[in-house]
Amino acid sequence: MQLLMMGPPGAGKGTQAAKLVKQFKIPQISTGDMFRAAVKEGTELGKQAKACMEAGKLVPDEVTIGIVRERLAKDDCKGGFILDGFPRTVEQADALTKILNELGKKLTRVLNIHVPAEDLIERAVGRRICKKCGATYHVKFNPPKGANCDECGGELYQRGDDNEETMKNRLGVYEASTRPLIDYYKIAGVYTEIDGRQPIDKVTEDLVNVLSSVKE
Ligand SMILES: [Zn+2]
Repeated sequence: MQLLMMGPPGAGKGTQAAKLVKQFKIPQISTGDMFRAAVKEGTELGKQAKACMEAGKLVPDEVTIGIVRERLAKDDCKGGFILDGFPRTVEQADALTKILNELGKKLTRVLNIHVPAEDLIERAVGRRICKKCGATYHVKFNPPKGANCDECGGELYQRGDDNEETMKNRLGVYEASTRPLIDYYKIAGVYTEIDGRQPIDKVTEDLVNVLSSVKE
């Protein structure tokens, strides 16, 4: 089962990917993890990626794609994987299609956890975090009983980037960059959108239902 997970920041993509990892016993492969592993292993591509990152430059596409190719060829991906954070562009999506062809595989499904921008902004703006224990609350959806943390009595604060302006910018950038990818995978016939406004367990249930009905 070769999966690609998509979803805007704050939609709960990470949480859901972790649940699918457990359910289907396939690894989650994020761009960050792939880069770190390649750098640590000291592969040729890892060295090139490291040099770029240290110079504060973007890692060129051919290096990123090479690292993905090496990662997906590893033994733990034989039964499938969940890609997260790659591809980000149509060019990278084309490269991924080629890589999978070489491996005699194809993407089973592209799963997009969809949450409208206004909901994500509301989630972020109302989020409060305990300074002491890190517990998270929401002023509307999960309010603390009093002014302080229910768990430990610690002071609650709002993260600096949990504001409307920052969220609007982040979501605008995300939306613009992923729209072409969504179209790409719709045309390929592998795209599924899941309603990410539902409770976490219901989102997982929907994902599992979609996956149990697809034929490999
Ligand atoms: Zn606390």
